[in-house]
Amino acid sequence: MLAPRATALLLASLAALPAPAADEPACSLTAVLWSGDPAPGSVTITHSGTASFQVSTEQSKLILKLEACRDATQGKKIPGQGTLLREVRWAQHADDVVWVVIELARMPRYTVHRSEGRIAVQLEADEPAAEPRFEAEYGALPEAMRRAMTPSAWREGCPVGLADLALVRVSYWGFDGAAHQGELVVHQKLAVEVLAIFGELFEARFPIDKMRRIELYDGDDGKSMADNNTSAFNCRNILGRKNKFSNHAFGMAIDINPVQNPYVKQGAVEPEQGREFLERARPRPGMVRKDDACHQAFVKRGWTWGGAWRSLKDYQHFEKRLK
Ligand SMILES: [Zn+2]
Repeated sequence: MLAPRATALLLASLAALPAPAADEPACSLTAVLWSGDPAPGSVTITHSGTASFQVSTEQSKLILKLEACRDATQGKKIPGQGTLLREVRWAQHADDVVWVVIELARMPRYTVHRSEGRIAVQLEADEPAAEPRFEAEYGALPEAMRRAMTPSAWREGCPVGLADLALVRVSYWGFDGAAHQGELVVHQKLAVEVLAIFGELFEARFPIDKMRRIELYDGDDGKSMADNNTSAFNCRNILGRKNKFSNHAFGMAIDINPVQNPYVKQGAVEPEQGREFLERARPRPGMVRKDDACHQAFVKRGWTWGGAWRSLKDYQHFEKRLK
């Protein structure tokens, strides 16, 4: 039997100690491990006793809250590994909660597996992004588009009626390396052929900067060229000619990347930014060159290329005149 004074001391020190045995947390965290295999990796938490836990995410953090648990580990952190893991850190909060924070470069899909004495968080590899596919459609000009085109792109007196024209929508690869959808207005008799041509350009990953209808530039070819816009129908005259319709006015001509493929006549260059592409021997993205994929896609279908003309060079221009 202890003396009364010793009993008092013992009771005082017991009060300062962690919770007594009866209230010991159900779980004791013994290790946090990272494995990069299988990729992209997994975090395994081992513990003794019974762990009850919750998983939550916050931006690119995966957070495990272990309740009724005590952190019995020495280290409190795993540094970044590979490209996905930024850090794993864990800490005791209050007397009986342990937070394990898995900080990632981005939030992947994940699964949590639990077995005796072990909680494993497996990060899932990204599914490879589906490669964009060529998508195309064509049809009569919608009523709203006919109104929008009049009178900037089409007006009474143009050599073809609005009913002779088709709207063509095609996928194309941008200079940004991504697939986009563009719109062209062409003569309806050429619509299917234009789909096939742009299908080949897509297959060849021939890059195109923009493909917007000309009325979005008020029917102004200069503005469209300066914006490096690929376009087709425009009821306009041949550049520099007063009374002669261009083949664009029939929907039978297409201009590709005007900046990389300028119009050149006696020192005049349209658009002005096309000057740096006057040197045609050095290939650069978006340039049309004889026998390349773009040139081939057109000429094998009987289109004429303005880059082959002698009196002037119109490198952006392809045309096919139908009777
Ligand atoms: Zn043209």
